[in-house]
Amino acid sequence: METTVVLLKPDCIEKNLVGEVIKRFEDLGLRIRGCKMFNASEALLKEHYSHLVDKPFFLEIIAFMQSSPIVALAIEGANSIASVRNHLGPTDSTMAPQGSIRGDYGTDKMRNIAHASDSSESAAAEIRRFFVNSELF
Ligand code: ADP
Repeated sequence: METTVVLLKPDCIEKNLVGEVIKRFEDLGLRIRGCKMFNASEALLKEHYSHLVDKPFFLEIIAFMQSSPIVALAIEGANSIASVRNHLGPTDSTMAPQGSIRGDYGTDKMRNIAHASDSSESAAAEIRRFFVNSELF
């Protein structure tokens, strides 16, 4: 069993797709271990996106992620890290296939509905970053 972290981004919240996206994960047989809505701080987002610090869109992605509350999910299941990434689709929503979450609902490279952990190392770091133990079930 693995736990992966998904962040439902402001475009997901604004499009009223929170339930739809969670349902996609539940329909895969995955279990929601944690779920919370909050305003992400600049410091938290700068840590989360530190691998993008040299990219021209770094400040834009931080501002976008602060444009509304986000929802953090901890999602458990066999192979959940790869499974969730596969169902999300590639970063660029315009290249994502129909049937994938980003393909069906995303707008572009930045407004792509959700973040998901990309490895067991990042999943472990992101669980610590976004949840305390008492928020996980
Ligand atoms: P992913 O979220 O698919 O793992 P990255 O870690 O490379 O992708 O990028 C993190 C986030 O930064 C993306 O999900 C997207 O919101 C934003 N992003 C990535 N590339 C671009 C880009 N070229 N222009 C604008 N935003 C981008």
